[in-house]
Amino acid sequence: MEPETLSELLSFDREHLWHPYTSMADPLPVYPVARAEGVWIELGDGRRLIDGMSSWWSAVHGYNHPALNAAAQAQLREMSHVMFGGFTHRPAVDLARRLLRLAPAGLEKIFYCDSGSVAVEVAVKMAMQYMYAQGTPQKNTLATIRSGYHGDTWHAMSVCDPVTGMHSLFSGRLPIQHFVPRPEVRFGAEWDERDFAPMAELLERHHDTLAAVILEPVVQGAGGMWFYHPEYLRRLREACDRYGVLLIADEIATGFGRTGRMFACEWAGITPDILCVGKALTGGYLSFAAVLATDRVAQTISAGDPSEFMHGPTFMGNPLACAVAGASLRLLEENSPLPRIAEIEALLGRLLAPARQWPQVADVRVLGAIGVVEMRRPVDMATLQRRFVEEGIWVRPFGRLVYLMPPFVIRDNELEALARGLLKVISEVE
Ligand code: PMP
Repeated sequence: MEPETLSELLSFDREHLWHPYTSMADPLPVYPVARAEGVWIELGDGRRLIDGMSSWWSAVHGYNHPALNAAAQAQLREMSHVMFGGFTHRPAVDLARRLLRLAPAGLEKIFYCDSGSVAVEVAVKMAMQYMYAQGTPQKNTLATIRSGYHGDTWHAMSVCDPVTGMHSLFSGRLPIQHFVPRPEVRFGAEWDERDFAPMAELLERHHDTLAAVILEPVVQGAGGMWFYHPEYLRRLREACDRYGVLLIADEIATGFGRTGRMFACEWAGITPDILCVGKALTGGYLSFAAVLATDRVAQTISAGDPSEFMHGPTFMGNPLACAVAGASLRLLEENSPLPRIAEIEALLGRLLAPARQWPQVADVRVLGAIGVVEMRRPVDMATLQRRFVEEGIWVRPFGRLVYLMPPFVIRDNELEALARGLLKVISEVE
């Protein structure tokens, strides 16, 4: 980009464009991107950064992927969109076939929608309509674990961690849900039955008014980057069945391999009643999501009055998004990323381990293609961001968490450079 154009672009952006979670009066700096390829992001001034974020869990195959580009281009020649009311098309059906093959066994019905947050709204609505249809409309609240994140729309926000999700800002207007502490037994540690006690007690006391428990299986993302023991999920599955409460797994961040299994539920060998996927569904190309449900959920809703499931967004089943998502799932099916993710896990573990000894670091944890360095104090995002860019890497910390979740196509030397840059920058933090 021309230098002058670049500064004009930046000042226009600063004046008119809101960025995620930023003030319009005093926004954090942003960096103009000209293009991206594989794991490399090229800034407007020509600097090249190794991507450590996969654009928030989504670009698992890297950027500008020939197979995804080809799928988008081929679909554009046919149609980019037609309404899903009254129509169907091959991209929607092909994608559904692939999703059902990959997803935990027992999920049979699919609802396509626009984004992760909307998928969570759809899942919640399914649970509510299920309870209405079976004649228990008083079962209409949700339970969850603290330090979760489920999106920014109203019901999604109501089940985000009450503190980091800033519930106080909307108190009195957000639906009140039930919270129990997050599971404390770590992934890989020895299971301790006491960890499930708060959830067991909640379900016992409140199941009469509960429609569903919603949580992120095994890995909590934006609410704390926390990895917990899969046994928690097995206990939860049993308890939900015992009390007639639905289990909603939000795999919007964890789905499609990130944790080392295709879906994080597989660590526990459970099938939720309702599963949300998004983000990496289109390989990070387009905003698109899907809600998968068991036959029982769908049949119960459909036997109710009304028998229709009351949701139907304009861009439902968007052919362009379905075609790209189909191509992304095809890559995952034909060339499983799981062996490479196991290598990334081992390498990340070795590379980040030295930080464990540092006084400013509280914890280092790695699972699948996710590496987390938890600091003792919140970091200064603007300063760290600038330093990471100077080191030629793209890492976006929040709060006390500095973490990597690179595209699965990253090479060893690129991962080494990424981790080296990360360690160098946090070694400068007091
Ligand atoms: N659930 C989880 C677990 C997420 O990580 C996110 C996004 N960070 C969402 C839901 C919301 O998805 P979206 O941003 O696409 O609305």
